[in-house]
Amino acid sequence: MRMNLLEECKGAARIGISGHIRPDGDCVGSVLSLQMYLRKCLPAAKVKVFLEKPADIFSEIKGYDEIDSDFPEEEPFDVFFVLDCGADRIGEAEKYFRTAGKRINIDHHIREAGSGDVNCIDPGIGSTCELLYDLMDEDRFDRDIAMALYIGIIHDTGVFQYSNTTPETLRKGAKLIGYGFDFPRLIRETFYLKTYVQAQVMGKTLTESVRFLDDRCIVGLVDRETMETYHVGPKDMDGIVNQLKNIKGVECAVFLYQTGEQEYKVSLRSDEKVNAAQAAACFGGGGHARAAGCTVKGAFRDCVDALICRIAEQLQA
Ligand code: AMP
Ligand code: MN
Ligand code: MN
Repeated sequence: MRMNLLEECKGAARIGISGHIRPDGDCVGSVLSLQMYLRKCLPAAKVKVFLEKPADIFSEIKGYDEIDSDFPEEEPFDVFFVLDCGADRIGEAEKYFRTAGKRINIDHHIREAGSGDVNCIDPGIGSTCELLYDLMDEDRFDRDIAMALYIGIIHDTGVFQYSNTTPETLRKGAKLIGYGFDFPRLIRETFYLKTYVQAQVMGKTLTESVRFLDDRCIVGLVDRETMETYHVGPKDMDGIVNQLKNIKGVECAVFLYQTGEQEYKVSLRSDEKVNAAQAAACFGGGGHARAAGCTVKGAFRDCVDALICRIAEQLQA
């Protein structure tokens, strides 16, 4: 039996919501859809989202402009939600989580345990938005909630193409587009469309990529110099790892961008042979079997060697 969202919030006057650092479509869609849903169903409660500022492609989602990315001091919340991750990846919002009367964690990453007093963790489901869909009462949906959930679902399933898409996912997608938002435009503008510099950086990364392990593994890098030259940041890197993965013969794609002198954010995408979450976990990260992430520290060559080593163990097993 899954948790009952409204029951868990019964009597709460102040409810806070957060998600992971470097928020993606599923994270933004889930925190904002939950905010809308709780405001609608519990009009007496004050509901607020605290989240690192998401990319402006998500600005059409209702509530985007109200997101608090300053993380001010607040009285303890009666209920605090962490969505699409555990409490270890919410950055500054951790202080609200720690002091809240009741902590609720809803996530779909592979995890040992939830971080909340109440947890709903289901790695078998493709996105946190799909999980929230199940937890919400469909009768309370409206166009804005539907659009937010839809954005999360398309981003984590690659527009219903990854193996985390199930018949249920498609049924939910079908129901959601029935609310009449312009879904082809949303898919294009939030998922596929790139700015010119984003495309240039993607092209440069593909051109300079290097293959390892009999060409079954590929590594791409955006270093600090490139980021400065092209004026791009972490939010501009989305999609590069997928392009690396879309190369014939590649069973595992590794994309790194520099976050410090000797620090790199890593994205992994893999086929059945490699469990990306398992490889990322060796470096303190995690995620899903086919898509995962972590941060590595050290000289670039050493970082790549260590990553390739973990992938080789699995490819050769
Ligand atoms: P990314 O490559 O950053 O798009 O992440 C791929 C998947 O792995 C997403 O579901 C992320 O939420 C998850 N992920 C990325 N980094 C981490 C991390 N350090 N710990 C746990 N999960 C992560
Ligand atoms: Mn996410
Ligand atoms: Mn997700």
